[in-house]
Amino acid sequence: MEKWVYTFGAGLAEGGAGDVEKLGGKGANLAEMAGLGLPVPPGLTIIADACTHFYTHQRNFPDEMKTQVLDGIGGIEAITGRTFGDARNPLLLSVRSGARSSMPGMMDTVLNLGLNDETVQGLAHNAEDDRFAWDSYRRFIQMYSDVVLGLDHEIFEEILDDEKARFGHEFDTDMTAAEWQHVTRIYKQMIEDELGEPFPQDPQVQLWGAIGAVFSSWMNARAVTYRQLHNIPVHWGTAVNVQAMVFGNLGSTSATGVAFTRNPSTGEKELYGEFLVNAQGEDVVAGIRTPQSLTEAARLESGYDKPAMEKLMPEAFAEFLAICNRLETHYQDMQDVEFTIERGKLWMLQTRSGKRTTKAAMKIAVDMVAEGLISEDEAVSRIEPSSLDQLLHPTIDPRVAREVIGSGLPASPGAATGEIVFTAEDAVSAKEEGRKVILVRMETSPEDIHGMHAAEGVLTTRGGMTSHAAVVARGMGIPCVAGAGTMRVDFRNGALIGVGVQLKKGDIITIDGSSGQVLKGTVPMLQPELSGDFAQIMAWADKTRRMTVRTNADTPGDARAARSFGAEGIGLCRTEHMFFEGERIHVMREMILAEDETGRRAALDKLLPMQRSDFTELFSIMHGLPVTIRLLDPPLHEFLPKTEEEIAEVAAAMGMEPRALSQRVDALHEFNPMLGHRGCRLAISYPEIAEMQARAIFEAAIAAALETGEPVVPEIMVPLVGLRSELDYVKGVIDGVASEVMREGALEISYLVGTMIELPRAAIRAHVIAEAAEFFSFGTNDLTQTTFGMSRDDASAFIPTYQKKGIIERDPFISLDFDGVGELIRIAAERGRQTRPDMKLGICGEHGGDPTSIHFCEDVGLDYVSCSPFRVPIARLSAAQATIKQQRLARHA
Ligand code: PEP
Ligand code: MG
Repeated sequence: MEKWVYTFGAGLAEGGAGDVEKLGGKGANLAEMAGLGLPVPPGLTIIADACTHFYTHQRNFPDEMKTQVLDGIGGIEAITGRTFGDARNPLLLSVRSGARSSMPGMMDTVLNLGLNDETVQGLAHNAEDDRFAWDSYRRFIQMYSDVVLGLDHEIFEEILDDEKARFGHEFDTDMTAAEWQHVTRIYKQMIEDELGEPFPQDPQVQLWGAIGAVFSSWMNARAVTYRQLHNIPVHWGTAVNVQAMVFGNLGSTSATGVAFTRNPSTGEKELYGEFLVNAQGEDVVAGIRTPQSLTEAARLESGYDKPAMEKLMPEAFAEFLAICNRLETHYQDMQDVEFTIERGKLWMLQTRSGKRTTKAAMKIAVDMVAEGLISEDEAVSRIEPSSLDQLLHPTIDPRVAREVIGSGLPASPGAATGEIVFTAEDAVSAKEEGRKVILVRMETSPEDIHGMHAAEGVLTTRGGMTSHAAVVARGMGIPCVAGAGTMRVDFRNGALIGVGVQLKKGDIITIDGSSGQVLKGTVPMLQPELSGDFAQIMAWADKTRRMTVRTNADTPGDARAARSFGAEGIGLCRTEHMFFEGERIHVMREMILAEDETGRRAALDKLLPMQRSDFTELFSIMHGLPVTIRLLDPPLHEFLPKTEEEIAEVAAAMGMEPRALSQRVDALHEFNPMLGHRGCRLAISYPEIAEMQARAIFEAAIAAALETGEPVVPEIMVPLVGLRSELDYVKGVIDGVASEVMREGALEISYLVGTMIELPRAAIRAHVIAEAAEFFSFGTNDLTQTTFGMSRDDASAFIPTYQKKGIIERDPFISLDFDGVGELIRIAAERGRQTRPDMKLGICGEHGGDPTSIHFCEDVGLDYVSCSPFRVPIARLSAAQATIKQQRLARHA
């Protein structure tokens, strides 16, 4: 019989932290804590496979699952001494989702399950608190109706507001037991009116309804979007956790809270979190009531006047602190925990590895190495490479005066400037128009995720450091100022009111997620520095990694930036980019439009000194590091004017008839330019272009070698080769120029001639091409395009649809298609090295900066990856992680 249900409680558990795939993150860690003997309310976890079964069987549960759940509930009853559905001593349950990777707030939860007209009396009697019991019952009806019965929660809010007004109360807390009882009656009547049947009184019906609803929430729109954004496969499904309820809302000795075992913003080793007295769990995350600090130190820092937990509940606090320390040592990582105190008794409701800013991740990893908790390699493995982007964010220049119009909590670091928008939809449409926005909300909810994603930063006027906005922005790596209480959003008039100012939609603001300040207008920013913990992690990464990391740089500015980020050479200089600047485009056009070779050569003579000085500068900046220069690649008409006005303008500048120019432009038109007259085909048609470029490269190499005293070994790369004979021809031109230049300069220089592998034919014939090529660089942009037969410029029209429909998981132009394009790379690498065992292999397509693709490159044994300057740190770290992974695999083999 298949095991669908795993139980935990009273110091025992059937699973543990290693069972995340089955039990989901929440379930696995509840089991782990229970197994450690920590105070966890007893419960059971229905495995995630049951969710998959649910979807593949017309939303039916597996047969054996029901009995197993009921057996598990029997166990909970035995531990708690209460009985599910019993009128006098009822067991109440929580039913929560729990996927393999955390999807905060995306799926549904039902609390207080098991309450009905009878058990509510038993609860009141047991708790000796009628008001609490009726409040719990009405909360349950509201939550269950929303999640399971599909009734809009607004209807309930309206009823509640009306009744509160009728009773003359302002707050929920003013309501009496009888008044809550009255509200439940109205709720139930309304439900019966709406649905034609009464609110389910049978706890069994409630139970299966809630479990089904949690499974169903795996497919709700929010969860689907979240999965897409985080690459979480749909087939994972969610587990369901059914657990005995504990109550943080049983008066002033009860409380509920959340905590991080270290500061998730800075990484500082200090307990960090918030709690609310007399409240249920969701109240803390909702950010509606202002929470209290856990420690006195934090209270003093935040200026809260209400006492910290440390003062208010010293015994529970001491136990909690000890548990936090134990969990950290046990998991060897910073934990994010949820807890409840029911009448003085502490209960742990969740633990998981805590989300943190990249800065905090670095500090925690470096500190934990110093504390002897983890190894250097482990520290390197823990940093998510793509999150380094966060550290590469600009900060506000401290030297300039700040026009502060409001302030809140520094919820996610970095500074951002943009136009004010008040809705997620406006943020998305502005982004589509290429405008930068700051999303301004009272507070955010999971419905705002797409807007947050489109925004440069987020500002909220309510909520704390653990509010939705704060947690999600930190995860996304965008700056966030949360709970800016000095500011007010006036939705009706589309205004943001700050200190002494009123701003409207479209006005520019800057938020500083590191200080919590909100500033008017644009502010000068400082570029980030790679020092401190970051430098330490990178140093460990560099020590470990096997592959080198080069950069794709076309200008001296790019090359300098890349060097400062640690690039170890240039893997691709796209020379065509040098021809667009200033004067050069005119000369380039002169060359393209020349009638014959003589005309072309005249124009090329003018381009030569420009190219030479570009290359000399690149060689000097790279100071002896390898530099790969690619010959001209794009089709020539890319340099020509397109619209009639442009043609008229260019014709006038060149002293040509507009019609004549127009005819030349037409003649160069191609139906499929990406498969047309480009790459090495240009050098074969017009060898004089390649001659000029080769001469510029060799002359520059000689000049730079004399200037820097370091030998320069240029690597000349021929694009879009499919046939060995193509490479032979172009190599002949290059070699010819090389001997000429060396003779003229009376100086020997070494150089390499290699090719890009960016056509399937080249990959398949790599052993033959390697007879002529001294190195290969995989041009995976074109190789993806030509392998799939999908135009890289048009694919965005259908790739998102493919992803939505599950045809492909990842965009192959962003993340390498291992099975197809990857197989060609593997073949080419193998065959190339058959012919030339020591041949240098690299990658210079966009995938060279993509972490998962970099792992593939390690696996295939490439020598280097090359990526854009800002991705160099990401690539260094990814390459190190790839090496560590290979070493671990080898050890386990
Ligand atoms: C490639 O095709 O992967 C490549 C690096 O060249 P480009 O993007 O310039 O075509
Ligand atoms: Mg290419």
